[in-house]
Amino acid sequence: MLALCLKPTREKSVLRKHPWIFKGAVQEIIGSPKNGETIRIIDNDRHFLAWAAFSAYSQICARIWSWDESDQINAGFLENRIIKSIARRESCVDSSKQAQRLVYAESDSLPGIIVDRYGLIIVVQFLNSGAEYWREAIIDTLYEIENIQCIYERSDVDARRLEGLEERTGILKGHLPNSVIEILENGLQYLVDIKSGHKTGFYLDQQINRLHLGRVASGKDVLDCFCYTGGFSVNALAGGASKVLSLDSSSEALAMCRKNVLLNNFDEGKHTTLGGDVFQTLRDFRDRNLHFDLIILDPPKFAPTIAQIKQAARGYKDINLLACKLLKPGGNLFTFSCSGGVSAELFQKIVAGAALDANADLQIIQRMYQSPDHPVAINFPEGEYLKGLVLRKN
Ligand code: SAH
Repeated sequence: MLALCLKPTREKSVLRKHPWIFKGAVQEIIGSPKNGETIRIIDNDRHFLAWAAFSAYSQICARIWSWDESDQINAGFLENRIIKSIARRESCVDSSKQAQRLVYAESDSLPGIIVDRYGLIIVVQFLNSGAEYWREAIIDTLYEIENIQCIYERSDVDARRLEGLEERTGILKGHLPNSVIEILENGLQYLVDIKSGHKTGFYLDQQINRLHLGRVASGKDVLDCFCYTGGFSVNALAGGASKVLSLDSSSEALAMCRKNVLLNNFDEGKHTTLGGDVFQTLRDFRDRNLHFDLIILDPPKFAPTIAQIKQAARGYKDINLLACKLLKPGGNLFTFSCSGGVSAELFQKIVAGAALDANADLQIIQRMYQSPDHPVAINFPEGEYLKGLVLRKN
């Protein structure tokens, strides 16, 4: 038998259905499980608690597949979970279902497995040893989905190093005629670079927030900071913004952003891209006394873990303070944090501190979260990472 026997009292989180087991909770490893292999999790009295995937190298040494002893963790089990996860999406997100997350790892009871759909293309990430162990079964199941032309792997993520796994990318099934494909989100067209775009190609988690932005953009002078390929900019133009300035440090992202504006037949005269560092550019704008009706701040992850919180807080405060100054009275700020280490409560405090220092009177009009195809299992709060505020400056 392969098993992990937990220290006394350390079964509590397992009983609360949290899917992670940390090394420090383990009393004894019974047998010699291979990396990713299924093991039995037992309490100190040797009672069954769960079936989990063993991670030989990570601090999280097991991730739970099932709390039901009668389950057999095999290809059929994985297939069943994936089919259920996809079926749950039927009623949510973009009605066209062209671009959406189909499997969101722990939150869909499939630890370490990310599956995004972009039209005929499926992009998959295997983030940990358990996911890697079952990769063939997962790929076979995904290739059964109707109208799929290609399964592409984007397991080029840091998390794999902690698991003793190499980065892997490339075609797994079918063919990819072109690395850059066209998708539809919120009825708008975008180019997505499957091979070298960020994450799996596009920030699908912002779909619902982009939609909301489009609804309030009419007649507005918009500044989209950290615009990437223009997810928010395109929605602002669709919503009737009078002008949109898209700012990012990546020239490739900005080139794609311009193409996305053209693809949707928007008036190029209303759109400008600017390459530069947001921290520096916002200072320049302040010094030049520029002002905007609507500002979006969607920075990259400043604090992937709790260890980087202090530095991240300084970064968030800085850009939010500058945005408060650049916002016209009556203007709106859409401000986000995708740092897992920064809670919604802390983020609000940071923004409040920024408003105070900028001497800006702000009201929260709405709170924003990741889109519904990135759900958060109630027993796994770590699945919630994207938080945002819609603010009005009085
Ligand atoms: N809002 C985007 C996603 C933003 S991802 C969307 O809806 O798709 C974060 C972006 O920030 C990336 O495109 C990255 O190139 C850019 N970036 C990172 N650090 C930056 C900096 N200091 N200044 C400007 N852009 C930066």
